[in-house]
Amino acid sequence: MKAVLYESPLTFSVKNVQNPVIKSQQVLIKVKTCGVCRTDIHIHHGEFIAGFPLVPGHEFVGEVVQVGENVKGITIGDRVACDNTVLCGHCYYCKRNEPLYCENFYSLGVNGPGGFSEYVVVNHDKVFQIRNLSYDQAVFAEPTACAVHGLDVIDVKPGDDVLMFGTGPTGIILAQLLKNAGAGNVVVSASDSKKLALVKELAADHVVQMERSNYSKHEQEINNLFPKGFDIVIDATGAKEVIQHLPQFCKNGAKVVIYGVAAQKDTIQLSPYEIFQKELKIIGSFAQTHCFDRALKFIENGVVSTQKLITHRYSLDEFERALYQVETGKGHIKVVIDI
Ligand SMILES: [Zn+2]
Ligand SMILES: [Zn+2]
Repeated sequence: MKAVLYESPLTFSVKNVQNPVIKSQQVLIKVKTCGVCRTDIHIHHGEFIAGFPLVPGHEFVGEVVQVGENVKGITIGDRVACDNTVLCGHCYYCKRNEPLYCENFYSLGVNGPGGFSEYVVVNHDKVFQIRNLSYDQAVFAEPTACAVHGLDVIDVKPGDDVLMFGTGPTGIILAQLLKNAGAGNVVVSASDSKKLALVKELAADHVVQMERSNYSKHEQEINNLFPKGFDIVIDATGAKEVIQHLPQFCKNGAKVVIYGVAAQKDTIQLSPYEIFQKELKIIGSFAQTHCFDRALKFIENGVVSTQKLITHRYSLDEFERALYQVETGKGHIKVVIDI
């Protein structure tokens, strides 16, 4: 079968590799579409928890073409989305029922074979049937699942004022979930005016254009809109320059949320006194596990609208172009690979 294969960070080719073989509790999926996300850029550079050699692609949907002898409830021909996380079940955290902290966290497309490939093997407990969704909708199951986990850790209270920086796909999805969860005001700041217009249409009460070269401009505008600050301030950019400034928008007792994936080497400066005096809570939101069921429900019932999010499509052979678009291109929201 054809797949994108990394020998090591930065070094990949699209080539023929051996077809995978399923075990008795596994399912073989013929991949239809797989989303490309910023995590794939981090993986490309050997960051995140990437393991090599690697077939990347962690946001895949497709059709079941083979089922193991001990698999129940899944049939050949089922259209499915797949939770890419594989938890060991026996480490310190798994035994405490904290599977997201699994010490052997294994993730298809990150440190195990993923969906930029004609076929992928998935454990039966991670396969979700998509009855009423198109593949183009269901391909947002993984990013939406990450946003659902974000929603869990953020724990928005009815009426909370929320400020979020960034309008990537998971940011736009999180904004929709926050509004639906009862946020009082959702304010989104980012540099791309088209994406701001879209997030305004879908979820945001106010949008503020970010000036990357002059932060004081949008900071002033946000402060004018909400002089008391916000209950929840979220970074969905992963940019340390943005994260550095989050505390200044906080009300006393507010939550600062690191939701975007920052570069591993990045550091920021924080004032311990400010955290102490304002009683700020700093919260991380890492990936997801067991959130697919809710994610698919939110897409199905329209709480999460994905309709205008796919902006670029490529074939498997064009993987390099797709990666380039996500890393350095402009104007995209979601880039997908059709297989
Ligand atoms: Zn992703
Ligand atoms: Zn574990």
